[in-house]
Amino acid sequence: MEQSFNDKRIVRAYREVARKIVKKEGLYHNMDQAELKEQTAIWREKFKTKEMTERDKINIFALAREAARRITGLEAVTVQLIGALVLGDGKVAEMKTGEGKTLVSLFVMYIEVIRGNRVHLITANEYLAKRDREEIGQVLEYLGVSVALNEAQLDKFQKKAIYTADVIYGTAAEFGFDYLRDNMVRAWEDKVQSGLDFVLIDEADSILIDEARTPLLISDKKEEDLSLYQDAELLVQSMLKDDYEIDEQKRFVWLNDAGIEKAQRFWQVESLYLEETQNFLRITMLALRAHFLMQKDKDYVVLDDEVLIIDPHTGRALPGRRFNDGLHQAIEAKEGAAVKEESRTLATITIQNYFRMYKKLSGMTGTAKTEEEEFKEIYGMDVVVIPTNLKVNRQDMPDDIFYTQKEKGRAIIYEVSWRHDKGQPTLIGTSSIKNNEWISGLLTDANIPHQVLNAKNHAQEAEIIAKAGKRGMVTLATNMAGRGTDIKLDEDAHQLGGLAVIGTERHESRRIDLQLMGRAGRRGDLGFSKFMISLEDDLLADYDSKRWIKLREKLLRRAPRTGKPVNKLRLHTYVYEAQKRLEGANYDLRKELLSYDEVIDLQRKMVYQERNELLQRQKLGISSEKILREIAEQTFKVTGDEQTMEEAYKRQEEFLAGTSFPMSMEEIKREDPDVVIEKLINWHKGQREKIPAETMSAIEKEVYLNLMDQMWVMHLDEMVQLREGIHLRAYAQQDPLVMYQKEGGELFKKFQSEYHFYFAHALLELEPDGLVMG
Ligand code: ADP
Ligand code: MG
Repeated sequence: MEQSFNDKRIVRAYREVARKIVKKEGLYHNMDQAELKEQTAIWREKFKTKEMTERDKINIFALAREAARRITGLEAVTVQLIGALVLGDGKVAEMKTGEGKTLVSLFVMYIEVIRGNRVHLITANEYLAKRDREEIGQVLEYLGVSVALNEAQLDKFQKKAIYTADVIYGTAAEFGFDYLRDNMVRAWEDKVQSGLDFVLIDEADSILIDEARTPLLISDKKEEDLSLYQDAELLVQSMLKDDYEIDEQKRFVWLNDAGIEKAQRFWQVESLYLEETQNFLRITMLALRAHFLMQKDKDYVVLDDEVLIIDPHTGRALPGRRFNDGLHQAIEAKEGAAVKEESRTLATITIQNYFRMYKKLSGMTGTAKTEEEEFKEIYGMDVVVIPTNLKVNRQDMPDDIFYTQKEKGRAIIYEVSWRHDKGQPTLIGTSSIKNNEWISGLLTDANIPHQVLNAKNHAQEAEIIAKAGKRGMVTLATNMAGRGTDIKLDEDAHQLGGLAVIGTERHESRRIDLQLMGRAGRRGDLGFSKFMISLEDDLLADYDSKRWIKLREKLLRRAPRTGKPVNKLRLHTYVYEAQKRLEGANYDLRKELLSYDEVIDLQRKMVYQERNELLQRQKLGISSEKILREIAEQTFKVTGDEQTMEEAYKRQEEFLAGTSFPMSMEEIKREDPDVVIEKLINWHKGQREKIPAETMSAIEKEVYLNLMDQMWVMHLDEMVQLREGIHLRAYAQQDPLVMYQKEGGELFKKFQSEYHFYFAHALLELEPDGLVMG
């Protein structure tokens, strides 16, 4: 993106500082490693108590620049220093592909460590984490800063060790999972993470925006009747057009009255909206979604009787990953594949809420400006566009828009073929596997050798993409694949105009188009880019503006079939509008995800905090007697009609079941509740006096934690169910989010009183004689 006026103003100020850093070039030239290390240590000590001035900053950067020069041979240029300064201020720096962001990260990390912050460096995948840890890690280590790599396969002890490092490299998911797992441990010492100070996110848009669509989730298997999914699929197959409504934009489908009636008859229930019929409702909704909204070969593929998710950004199948909360099962039923057990959520957090916990956050990427508003609103980060070091020499052509797919395909092959004949390397971008295969077939028919980027392994991917700049090479890649790897041109390719990028579809956001284009013309290289699209592309076929639909139909009806692009000026505006519309819709979806997660986030923070306090103590923070009294009062002091009393008696029975409390239910019913409560508490006091206080504390803590965890997981599951079902009730003219907040809050209160109830019950169950120590 172009720099705005504001960007220019901001950058101007940073540039002053960057220039001063470059001027200090000689300052650390004559210091040997020991002296540089010593300087690092001095600074680290100094800024524990002192504020860092601009002069300090300049010196710190100059030293890091000297170290980088020695170890990597790279001399950081002014714009790289500007980028680093921007990042150090907790902003997003947009720096084009190939500008050397890996080196930029060095400065930010070094100065943050000196400021006393532990640094997490997030990369798009494990391959890049490892690569960058080696490249930049060696410079940091040269300066006496410790560096580690966070990987999925590490055990608890290894994890604990890596988290003691000053700088830790890894993927967002790995750090997020560590956080979640840390809040499931049973002993304080088992935690591995060491605080969330400063995080620098590379490929920030990919992580904070694209990945942020799916929350992180730890789960296990849940027992349930899987045949219900097949039943629901049958039900949905019998639905007629009048039974349901679909909102394609919002990707939402719901039943209208006729459909609801049909479903109720099918499941043989009076209403779908009762507590006991919730599961039917949920599974019906899932089947509807699976059937009408989820598209085969777009959202998922079926391979060997297995349903695999397609990553919407790379277009690759994701083995092992499943859609959440039963959707995967519903799709399996739809496709006639074996329905596998549903998993139960044990812990979950959104990417957004995970990263918002850091004290300081910053990010760098080639494409951020288009998503400026989201970075600001969700993460509180400004986006600053950093100018490129050399002028961009890429020729970006306006789109060729064809009438039909077929014509588009032919034109793409023609375009690629003459470029290939002259030896210019070409990168063809597609947005789905389906398209990728289609184009690959066309290329093969035309005898154009090409490499296809659909590897499942990031290291291989990097190898392929690195070769894409060789003379005559044709590379066909789903979008975003190979992010983070530079495409270097060989000598011949330079002569022939550099890399040509052909986009075969406009993506669902301009940002991803720009990312693809940015593969060419890096670091002042020559380059070319053009999108070749058609009126039949999903983007344009699905765009539901009335004026557009009319125009598109007219154009398609009159299509001259000459193979030439449509010659209409306004068309580009429509393409842009369609894209903007989708961007907006996707942003709304992410915001919605976040507003829902905020309800759980609050609860999660409360529970995690209580857990953390408990883990650090030898015993409970609250008096167990107080809990017992509270629960006893809720349980025994009940008044109401006959039915309420029946339920209350049941609850009382449950409360006392398995205890040797000497009063029978008959006696309790006759007695004044206050008397019962006093008796119960005194009896319990007597019981616990027979148990050594220390043992008692340990047992209490263990039991409390156990129950809290168990019921928290159940509660999470209930929240998930609530979330699934809530949209249906939007039908009844209520704002689903408001309902979710309200009912979610009630569920949370229920959760709290439930685990206190079972805790009090467990206290009563304790038998001093039966206690086995050990
Ligand atoms: P980005 O992440 O911004 O796309 P990389 O960090 O992958 O870019 O760097 C791209 C290439 O530029 C690498 O080969 C790197 O070694 C090189 N590079 C980075 N900084 C400099 C520099 N100051 N001078 C020369 N080459 C550099
Ligand atoms: Mg990079």
